Amino acid sequence: MIDIEGWAHAYSGKVRDLYVPQSAHGFGSGDVMLVVASDRISAFDHVLPTVIPGKGKILTQLSLWWYEKLADIVPNHLVSLDVPEEVQGRAMIVRKLEMVPVECVARGYLSGSGLTEYKSSGGVCGNELPPGLREGDRLPQPIFTPAAKAPAGQHDENITFSQMRRLVGPISTELKNLTLTLYERARMVAAERGLILADTKFEFGLRDDSGSADAIVLADEVLTPDSSRYWAADSWKSGYHQVNFDKQFVRDWLLSPAAQWDRTGGENPPPLPDSIVQRTRERYLEAFERITGRAPDLD
Ligand code: ATP
Ligand code: MG
Repeated sequence: MIDIEGWAHAYSGKVRDLYVPQSAHGFGSGDVMLVVASDRISAFDHVLPTVIPGKGKILTQLSLWWYEKLADIVPNHLVSLDVPEEVQGRAMIVRKLEMVPVECVARGYLSGSGLTEYKSSGGVCGNELPPGLREGDRLPQPIFTPAAKAPAGQHDENITFSQMRRLVGPISTELKNLTLTLYERARMVAAERGLILADTKFEFGLRDDSGSADAIVLADEVLTPDSSRYWAADSWKSGYHQVNFDKQFVRDWLLSPAAQWDRTGGENPPPLPDSIVQRTRERYLEAFERITGRAPDLD
């Protein structure tokens, strides 16, 4: 986290640092925030001691690219890219929202926590699924699988739609429909680029407390490899673990004997070797380039 003139540090998540304007700014205080994406990487709910150079810029620019592709479906939180020089390319000024305390996940394929739940219950978040599906399989239709945001250091927890309604109220229906509409759009864009968008997570906020659907704004990062599973369509295979465009190398290495890390022991993970850092960085770059058709601005 760095000091930025004119902005006061307000909060740091695992990956991003949030700042609010100091009075000198043109923005009304309380209206906007500066979101700075760091190069930090998290795995197994830990922030690792090693950064992935360029990651914050790649993911910020990918979110911005997607905001544009989705802008006709739902307004987003972006206010301005006129950000302080030292965070240029990795930061945006956004509208500060009352965040919906539920992560809105759409899944078109079976993987991750969806797969785990399916194996034990035959469904995911209250969505019934046909028997006999295997890891990586395409679902008969995309499903909405909300998750309650957990306090720092804990796992987000998959919940049913009725549980979400109890937490969030009637606006849940609109959030679910929006999530599935956004997923469908993104899935098609990804498919044109030879990628399968297996699942993705959106975070929404509300710009007022009217309770009306008009108050919904798309916030947070959007359709990055950190919030989504992208698979190369040409290597997809039913019944296998597919390789994501994100931290796969990191997770594999942390679990390997070389890391000498006991995941369950409560201790922090060790620093990553340079080769893992490089391969992970290349993977993020490849995702960006495949999706947008260009290179990110890393200067
Ligand atoms: P958390 O902070 O919930 O533990 P995290 O580790 O994923 O999650 P980051 O993604 O690093 O956190 O930080 C981004 C934080 O900013 C998230 O808590 C996210 O919900 C919040 N956020 C994103 N967009 C907005 C917005 N427009 N208004 C308010 N909060 C926002
Ligand atoms: Mg986050």
